[in-house]
Amino acid sequence: MTQEVAATVIHRADYTAPAYWIDTVDLAFDLDPAKTRVLNKMRLRRNGHVPAQALKLDGEELNLARVLVNGQGTSFKIEGNQLVLENLPEGTDAFDLEIFTTCAPIKNTSLSGLYVSNDSFFTQCEAEGFRRITYFLDRPDVMASYTVTLRADKAKYPVLLSNGNLVDHGALEDGRHFAKWVDPHKKPSYLFALVAGTLVAREQRIIARNGQEHLLQVYVRPGDLDKTEHAMNSLMASVAWDEARFGLPLDLERFMIVATSDFNMGAMENKGLNIFNTKYVLASQATATDADFDGIESVVGHEYFHNWTGNRITCRDWFQLSLKEGLTVFRDQEFSQDMCASPSARAVKRIEDVSCCAPPSSPKTPAPWPTRCGLTATSRLTTFTPSRSMKKDRKWCA
Ligand SMILES: [Zn+2]
Repeated sequence: MTQEVAATVIHRADYTAPAYWIDTVDLAFDLDPAKTRVLNKMRLRRNGHVPAQALKLDGEELNLARVLVNGQGTSFKIEGNQLVLENLPEGTDAFDLEIFTTCAPIKNTSLSGLYVSNDSFFTQCEAEGFRRITYFLDRPDVMASYTVTLRADKAKYPVLLSNGNLVDHGALEDGRHFAKWVDPHKKPSYLFALVAGTLVAREQRIIARNGQEHLLQVYVRPGDLDKTEHAMNSLMASVAWDEARFGLPLDLERFMIVATSDFNMGAMENKGLNIFNTKYVLASQATATDADFDGIESVVGHEYFHNWTGNRITCRDWFQLSLKEGLTVFRDQEFSQDMCASPSARAVKRIEDVSCCAPPSSPKTPAPWPTRCGLTATSRLTTFTPSRSMKKDRKWCA
């Protein structure tokens, strides 16, 4: 479960810039449900615009085995949920920090961080799940370049996915294999993702307006592949629309959606590796309604549009959440209207969108979402990070 932090109130006015920047992160995972090993090699430097101070890294439910600074052992201490390093190189030159930890995904029932469900590994890091994977400056204004190597048993976890582009993969000893992913774009830790398990993919190659070729993939459990055609069509339409309407091309070699019933957060815009609950992806003519098809197109579009509004350009702190969500909801509403065949259908869509913003019909019904845009303090971030449900997203941004 999430660590109890209710006693600590976070005020928007108390924001301060981070004392350190993390430029690069090289993560290596040896995936094991009971004991996953995580080697985290970072390149950091002090932020010269704030007074020199100790480095305090967030971490929860981690077993710390090793800390090295520039390859040498160093003193450190644990204060609450933070790893504190006081004896770091002076000045603003970059230095290397290596942290080796283990965690137990099988015991993680919080649905935050790295967890196992039905023999597969998933992550959910928004808002503060990454600190359950490794010690880190787990805040959205610290953006780093990530290289991720995943190692696991090949028979149990034939598919190994993370953010960005696949640069290497192959066999290891003892029936294991590996996949190495490089995300060329800096991102905050809440957009990190990995998935490992038995999945199959519908694939589509597309050529963008600028001539770049991309691979689109929709991963699902075996048996669900025939219900992914509409999701793939929605993703193709989203990629083409964002480039044509806003001049925002897909900036990765591939873009992946993973749909699984094991993911309870609705949908999450992790860079290049969106993770969805199946109800936002799977549809067949035999069982789904028109509203189901519309909803899938809208949600697939919404999470894809975050690729720029939210991922490439993100929020400073969680009090600014409505900026990335509001702009992206606006973009998915415009997309859905442009997908309509007639002016009257566009008008109906607009009325539907606006009706979500209307005040509740009963004065007894609380209306928490609109008021939360003006939050100045909170005790738990998870309580004001909205569900990925689109209707709540829209109310949130009202
Ligand atoms: Zn969103």
